[in-house]
This record gives sequence, C-alpha cells and structure tokens, in this order.
Amino acid sequence: MDFSYPAEVEQFRVELRDWLSANLTDELVAARRPSGRDDASFELLRAWSATMSDAGWAAVSWPREYGGRGATVLEQLVYTEETTRARAPMPLNVIGMNNIAPAIMQYGTEEQKKTLLPRMMRADDIWCQGMSEPEAGSDLASLRTRAVRDGDAFVVNGQKIWTSLGHRAHWCQLYVRTDPDAPKHQGISCLIVDMKLPGIEVRPLVTLNGDTDFAEVFFHDVRVPAEALLGPLDGGWQVATTTLSHERAGAARLYAEMQVRLVELVDDIAAHSDALDDPVTLRRLGEIAVRIKYLEVLCQRSISATLHGGSEMTAFGSASLAKTVWGEIGQDMAALAFDVLGTRGDNAGWANYRLTSRSLTIAGGTTQINKNITAQRVLGLPRK
Ligand SMILES: Cc1cc2nc3c(=O)[nH]c(=O)nc-3n(C[C@H](O)[C@H](O)[C@H](O)COP(=O)(O)OP(=O)(O)OC[C@H]3O[C@@H](n4cnc5c(N)ncnc54)[C@H](O)[C@@H]3O)c2cc1C
Repeated sequence: MDFSYPAEVEQFRVELRDWLSANLTDELVAARRPSGRDDASFELLRAWSATMSDAGWAAVSWPREYGGRGATVLEQLVYTEETTRARAPMPLNVIGMNNIAPAIMQYGTEEQKKTLLPRMMRADDIWCQGMSEPEAGSDLASLRTRAVRDGDAFVVNGQKIWTSLGHRAHWCQLYVRTDPDAPKHQGISCLIVDMKLPGIEVRPLVTLNGDTDFAEVFFHDVRVPAEALLGPLDGGWQVATTTLSHERAGAARLYAEMQVRLVELVDDIAAHSDALDDPVTLRRLGEIAVRIKYLEVLCQRSISATLHGGSEMTAFGSASLAKTVWGEIGQDMAALAFDVLGTRGDNAGWANYRLTSRSLTIAGGTTQINKNITAQRVLGLPRK
C-alpha cells in the first residue's frame, strides 16, 4: 500500500485545515452527536451543512457540476481524516448524500439533479431513506409496501420502519413493490416522495437513550406523481445497489472516528478517575488501541484496492469486514467507558454511547450479514 501524499494533496489538506480552524466552533463540535429531540442543535447542524456547502467543503467527492470538488481518492482520504480529527459534524443529510445522491446522479433527470442535490447538500431539505419494513430488513427484497399505477400517479400503501430522520424529512427515497408477481428482486421500484403528500403518517420512535432519531412511516392511499419514479419501473433493486458512489475513501472515517474516541476516553478517565493506574483497565485500553490499528489497516486495504484499480469485490468485501470490526470496537469501547466512568465524564456522553452503541452492529447492514459477505467475497467461500 502506498499512502505517501503528493504535494497537491498536501496543499488540499492545508486549505481544509485553514478553513476548519476559521469556521469550526466549539459549539459545533459539542453538537456533533445530535439528539433527535434537540431542535436547537439540529438547526445548528443544519446551518453548518449550509456553511460547508457554500464553501465547497460538504461533498468533496461529488462532481463539480453538483457542488462538489471532484476530489481524488487521496483528497477524499485526507478530507475524511481531517474533518474527523477536527471533530467536525458530518453533514446532516449523511444518508442522503452517501446513498441517495449517487442514485439521483445516475438515474435522475437533469431537472431533479439541479433542484434536489444542492438543497440536499445544504440541508435546506432533509432526506430519509424508506427501505426497511417490519418483515424486510436484512432481506430487503421481501419488502411489501405496494405501489399501483393509477393514471398519472402511483398509489402507495404500506409501512416503513427505522427510517432515520423520517420525522424531519421533506423527501423520502422510497422502495415499493410495483409487480407482486415478478421474482422478488425484480418487482421493486424506487420513488422520490414528497413527505407532505396527503396520506403519509409519521410516528417518531423513541430509542433506549430517549432520543428520537428515526420513525415509522405509514402510507395510506398516497398518490405519488408518476414522474417521481427514479430509475426503471421494476428496476428498483438496481437503483438500491447502485455502485456509482463517488465516496471512495469513506472507510477512513471508521478508524479516524475510533482514534478520536479513544483519545477522548483516555482523557476522561484521567480527569474523572484513578483507573489509569489499574492494570486491567490499561490492558482493555491497549487491546482497543491495537484493534483500532487493525481497523486502520483493513480500511486502507479497501481504499488501496480502489486507488490501485483492485476489484470492486475486494474493496466491498474489505469494507464490509471493516464495518463489522468498527461496530464491535465501538461496543467494547462503550462498555469499557461505562464500566469505568458510569455517568461521569463529558455530559454523561459515555453512558449515552453505551446505549446507542447497540445499533453499531445493526445499522447499515448487520454483523451477521457482513460476515456472510466477508466469507463469500474475501474468503471465496461458497454461498451454502
Ligand atoms: C440506527 C439505525 C438506523 C437505521 N436507519 C435506517 C434508514 O434510514 N432506513 C431504513 O430503511 N432502514 C434503517 N435501519 C434499519 C436497518 O437497515 C435494519 O435494522 C437492518 O437492515 C436489519 O434488519 P432488521 O432490523 O429487520 O433485522 P433482521 O433482518 O430481521 O435480522 C434479525 C437478526 O437476524 C440476523 N440475520 C438475518 N438474516 C441473516 C442471514 N441471512 N444470515 C445470518 N444472520 C441473519 C441479523 O443479522 C440479525 O441479527 C436503521 C437501523 C438502525 C439500527
């Protein structure tokens, strides 16, 4: 792996650092892990998304015509490391920008790209992604929310669940079944749905720590204009698995985030307890530090495969493995922090992390599913 940076990439780093030190406030750093209930920090983060967009720092990997910088993989890597280490909040529409925008860029009309993408980037509009249903999570292709064509509209009925930002969203990228008779992967379509349409009912879900980060969304005879179809009719699976991701170095956030958290944890333990004199705590911290190093190497392997033209399969398989390792490290760090500090420390943040860390091995693909992917694509084992 070759991670020495050319001069122009170092120049990019300097520009970004200068911009961050001029614009990133302590208030923003404190708000970077927002509570879904806290409207004030949500609005602060919304304003931050706009500030980053207007300066061209919100989506450096996007092509210039959609407000990005067309950044190279190395520039993206530097961007991810620098923003994470500076503790800059992520853009509010992170799911939208990473997962929905690439599909709009690939399948959307020029009009959709021009109107939807800049507003998504600035967080003028909040986006959610309606995939999971009560009976369709890991097996997404089992989804049953139905859309039936009726004149100039699709009539949608059904339910989504675990929809992040669903209760705040203006738009939803919604996956629906348009052909119930086709094999399950072939009868799905993708719609871009205005969340203000009559018949949409959003019920916020309160999680273990009292936050409201996601919602259940119900569709009762919702008439969605036919032009809201994104990609081919019955070709929604293709849209969902679109590989046109411009974000090639996102995996770097996994290890950079854990490095930052570990430093914060050691600082907090030193400030609030004597546990740094305790050999058991030191051993647990040391083990986590080693595993973060391992995570860094795994992520760099995935990024290196992209950088040096390795197969997409290797990159995807390594990224799945890295996500699993990241989730497990996060849960172990949260358990250690809570064992040592309880509710002490920065605004009881570790107790909160202890509760939210349960989701690290579920969201964005469960650990079991990622292990299946690792087995098949990295180790080359048979499906059965
Ligand atoms: C914080 C968070 C945010 C989320 N945001 C969104 C969102 O914005 N939009 C959205 O659509 N969804 C969202 N989700 C839902 C998420 O995608 C699903 O929770 C996830 O895909 C798992 O589906 P499930 O919960 O239905 O569990 P299931 O798929 O029912 O799985 C239950 C258990 O069985 C295991 N399992 C299932 N299939 C297999 C298999 N083939 N082999 C081995 N083990 C298996 C799983 O690993 C898991 O342990 C979010 C979830 C979380 C936690």
